[in-house]
Amino acid sequence: RARKSQRERPCDIETFTPSFFSLYETLIPAEEDKANQEHLLSLLAKSLNKEWPEAQLHLYGSWANTFGFSNSDIDICIAIDDSTASNHNMLLKVADIMELNNFQNVQAITNARVPIVRMTDPVTGISCDICINNLLAVANTKLLKDYAQIDDRLHQLVLIVKHWAKSRAINEAYRGTLSSYTYVIMCIHFLQQRKPAILPCLQEMEATYTLTIDGVECNYFDQVQELSNFGAKNKENIAQLLWAFFHYWAYKHDYKNDVISVRTGSIISKQEKHWTTRVGNDRHLICIEDPFETSRDLGRVVDKHTVKILREEFERAADILQYDPKPSVTLFEPY
Ligand code: ATP
Ligand code: MG
Repeated sequence: RARKSQRERPCDIETFTPSFFSLYETLIPAEEDKANQEHLLSLLAKSLNKEWPEAQLHLYGSWANTFGFSNSDIDICIAIDDSTASNHNMLLKVADIMELNNFQNVQAITNARVPIVRMTDPVTGISCDICINNLLAVANTKLLKDYAQIDDRLHQLVLIVKHWAKSRAINEAYRGTLSSYTYVIMCIHFLQQRKPAILPCLQEMEATYTLTIDGVECNYFDQVQELSNFGAKNKENIAQLLWAFFHYWAYKHDYKNDVISVRTGSIISKQEKHWTTRVGNDRHLICIEDPFETSRDLGRVVDKHTVKILREEFERAADILQYDPKPSVTLFEPY
């Protein structure tokens, strides 16, 4: 491991940028997919507002944060201020309404960390999750979307990293690997750390967006149109960034001591967060601080077995970018 970490970036890595860029373009959803998704959202709003006229529907997750694929599921949050009904009963009611509206495979999953109704849109076959009052997810979706406006290289890096993680079957938080949300946080942090930096740290700047949800402060600078030149001094292109991203997670990250933090735009120590010993099921083997819920380690789902799988995948990816003649193909070979 030590010897490999001395590796220099191959001098011809840039020559792979056009092939990664073409791949990136194929990953962006078509306008037609966006139109379908908007149509679905307005249908849902109509049928839910019949039952709850004051309810608001928020799109969150990858269709709202701009990091979606055409087949990404649609994440919807119903915001409703109704103290008379329990969330549990409301979810069951939502499930009934969806069945009446001909959605398929309607399931109320009430025992999850975030209880949802899951169903399939019969027209597009796309899966759709509805939750109630999960406003923190709506806020962190906006943070991700705002970062995406600052520099196009974040969008390129995220779509390719997500495509890689899905191809290699390491994008399944319920099986001990990492969620899409976590991969986006890793990409933002990585671009904050480039020299010169490609992304700023919005939470360290003067807050123009302030919101407190369940006691959690979600404050940051959101006038991002003013930052569109932020990364201009850094000329790195997508192939160089991919090499550096995988090289970092394969050989440079200090898994024993470090926590990556988008909130501070830097690395902080496990010690400082008291994430050194296992508490309950939280093992802290790869530490990624949630930008708003700072006591939450997004890596807590990872165990001894899956951390090994993740690290082997980072090493495989770094090695492919180092030596493979066709990295934009080999990287995504299905697991
Ligand atoms: P995909 O295209 O794979 O569906 P996604 O961006 O929708 O990607 P998910 O991981 O499915 O990502 O999560 C959906 C949303 O739920 C995220 O955008 C985020 O707002 C919220 N979320 C997911 N996991 C967490 C978490 N561990 N902590 C806080 N919010 C989370
Ligand atoms: Mg999603």
